[in-house]
Order: sequence, then structure tokens, then C-alpha cells
Amino acid sequence: MGIADNLAQVKHSIELAAQDANRSSDEVELVAVSKVHVVETIRPALEAGHRIFGENRVQEAQGKWPALKEEFTDLELHLIGGLQTNKVKDAVELFDVIETVDRPKLARALAKEMEKQGKSLGVYVQINTGEEEQKGGCLLSEADELITLCRDELKLNVLGLMCIPPAAEEPSLHFAFLREIAKRHGIEKLSMGMSGDYEAAIRFDATSVRVGTAVFGERVKA
Ligand SMILES: *Cc1c(COP(=O)(O)O)cnc(C)c1O
Repeated sequence: MGIADNLAQVKHSIELAAQDANRSSDEVELVAVSKVHVVETIRPALEAGHRIFGENRVQEAQGKWPALKEEFTDLELHLIGGLQTNKVKDAVELFDVIETVDRPKLARALAKEMEKQGKSLGVYVQINTGEEEQKGGCLLSEADELITLCRDELKLNVLGLMCIPPAAEEPSLHFAFLREIAKRHGIEKLSMGMSGDYEAAIRFDATSVRVGTAVFGERVKA
């Protein structure tokens, strides 16, 4: 099957999962995760009308997206991978949404850079719900403080919360955690769910699912 078929199938599954949860599928956006894939692989998704994409590395995205952004002016590009402060300038220039704000230093650097560039990107606060050492995201115990810093002090446009559950665990507990924290702060959006668990995430009120493999196929690293 081609990319356009995959995309249609994922969108259909999103619809069914939303129905199942008594939700409207309009409430669930699909971020097509195109990391590792080349422009020729991404293009069919664009030609099928898809406009929201996710990349996890700033440098890789810089090599693929500036030209596509000129061609498809209504693109929305999400950064879904860890961001180092020395890449903040480039990230603010290229991306529309940063989903991985996970520490005060990064939040402050983003606020400063957005002001400098006269932009207000949407951001998500990433929470490491599984408290995994190798994973990005703030700890559960730091979440309230970081959200408050981003919103109230730095005046960042906090759209929602994001998490990546541990691969080996039942993700539902993590989806429920994220929803709980969002509720406590009156935050509306939840970015959670990937190829293997996006339907489950939708049952826990995900408003944004980040799906790579199910759209573009397996990622093969050279
Ligand atoms: C790669 C990636 C995804 C997509 O994963 P798939 O299993 O290929 O759907 C989602 N979110 C993040 C943060 C990723 O890095």
C-alpha cells in the first residue's frame, strides 16, 4: 500500500476510535511523524492533503522542510524530539509547534528567542510519566511548577501536555496520568499515542496523536 492509503487508513481508525469513545474525530489531530524519511516519501502525504507533520531532530528537519514550507504554505510542523538550547534559534525559525518543553532553562530560552523573532509558537510541556532516565520530559514531581513557569511567568502559548509512555508498559496508565495533570491546570490538549497505541490514547482524550510507522512504514536507518 502507498502512503496515501496508509494515511487514509490511519484517519479511518482515528474516526472509529473517536466514535468508540463518544468523541468527535474533529477533536483529534494527526501528526504524521516523518523523521528519518526523505522528501520523496513525505510528498505523497502532502499531495493527499495532509498538512501536520512531526520531526524529532532540528538539523534533519532543516534539510527537508524549508523548501516544502514554501511550496505548501499552510504546513504545520511540530518538533517532537528533545531540544538543546543551542538549537533554539533554529527551532523557532522552522517549527510551528514545540512539543518537548521539559525544563526551565529550555522554556526560558524559547520565550526569549520567540520574543526576539516576534513569534509565539504553540508549545507542549513534555512529561516523563514513566520517569525513564534516557527519556525527555520533566518528572511528575516537576510538572506543576514547569507548567506554571511556562504559562504564568514566561507567557508561553501552552497548548497542551505531551508524553511518551515506556515501551514495555501498558500505556493507559500514562495516558491517564497526563490527562489528570492537564485537568488540574485547565489545559485542553493532550499529545499522546503513536502507531502502536493511538487508538487507546484517543480513549483517554488524546487530542493529538503522533503516528510515524503506520503512515510511512518502518524506519530503516542507513
Ligand atoms: C518516532 C516518534 C513517534 C512515532 O512513532 P511510531 O511508532 O513510528 O508511530 C511519535 N512520537 C515521538 C516523540 C517519536 O519520536
